[in-house]
Amino acid sequence: MSISKLSTVLAASYENFPKGRFITLVVLRTTHSETIFRTEGSGEPMCSEFVQAGLEGENQKTIIQRLVMTKRKQVAPERRYGREHLRAHELLYTNIKDGSLCSLNTNAPCEMCVDCFLYGFAAGGGGAQKSRIWTEDAFSILPASDVVGDRTINAIYENGTMRDEKGNASTALNTSEYIKPGVHFLDVVTLKDVTADELRYIIGNILFTSRYGAVSSRVGRMENEILGVFGSITELPSSLELVQATYDVLGKPLEHPLNINQLITASKQVIANWKNKRGVSVQLSEEELANLLTDVETNWSEAERDNFLKRLTQSYEPFRHVATEKKKAKAKGKNTPVEVES
Ligand SMILES: [Zn+2]
Repeated sequence: MSISKLSTVLAASYENFPKGRFITLVVLRTTHSETIFRTEGSGEPMCSEFVQAGLEGENQKTIIQRLVMTKRKQVAPERRYGREHLRAHELLYTNIKDGSLCSLNTNAPCEMCVDCFLYGFAAGGGGAQKSRIWTEDAFSILPASDVVGDRTINAIYENGTMRDEKGNASTALNTSEYIKPGVHFLDVVTLKDVTADELRYIIGNILFTSRYGAVSSRVGRMENEILGVFGSITELPSSLELVQATYDVLGKPLEHPLNINQLITASKQVIANWKNKRGVSVQLSEEELANLLTDVETNWSEAERDNFLKRLTQSYEPFRHVATEKKKAKAKGKNTPVEVES
């Protein structure tokens, strides 16, 4: 039960007001199949950004184009994972507005389920909840040119070839960029004022989500690994700083695919230096981290999951009543929508 090691930075119970408690998860995300991240439609290039290769010496002067896994691309599938289980255990609520069951992207959140309390919602029925999960863009270690491939998709006829019975060649359906398997993204996820059960829920969503990006039913297999957990009074270095510092530590020349063990060692070397900076009060040791992950798996297990999710849902009960009363009072007066960043 090394979750108790984090007790100083965990909230004892859910509260409406923030109290400056930060938990940082360092996540390594590795593609296990071709993956496609793009905003809209096919044929668009992959999201990428020109940044400094590293933080020191020549690396600091070198500019490279890194692939970006945007916040939305990380959080959306992870939220959906948790919500599948909330739905299965009948822990999603109906929203007051139109009586439909809580769902994402419909402008009608229930404002009462675990997902709404944790990942936030904006101005649905007049209330608002800020997300307590702060993500940022994750960057690839290697330059985009090394880790992106091009695939031309041709229609195959039913005879299994790309020629029809008359011998006509099939036309290309489209050409599409994809991220190669074995590409690593380093990511910093910051949790604000969460309870022990909320932490278990979030870590479960990250560890058990295995598909990301467009057309994820066919491609987009990804493995997430938690490399470090910190407690602090402020945010720790960004994902970009982490990638750049890790790039400095890795021996050159670097080639795709990177050796994952060397990469993990390099990243852990970087985050070990975070211990005495930026208000860090707790850093889990290797053993404590392993215990925390076992604790998470136990709570999510078949035997415990129902208990765990119900206990977490129950923890918001006092706040649900307050919200409902407030809403009734508000309905009489003028309805002022509140805009919140998501
Ligand atoms: Zn909800």
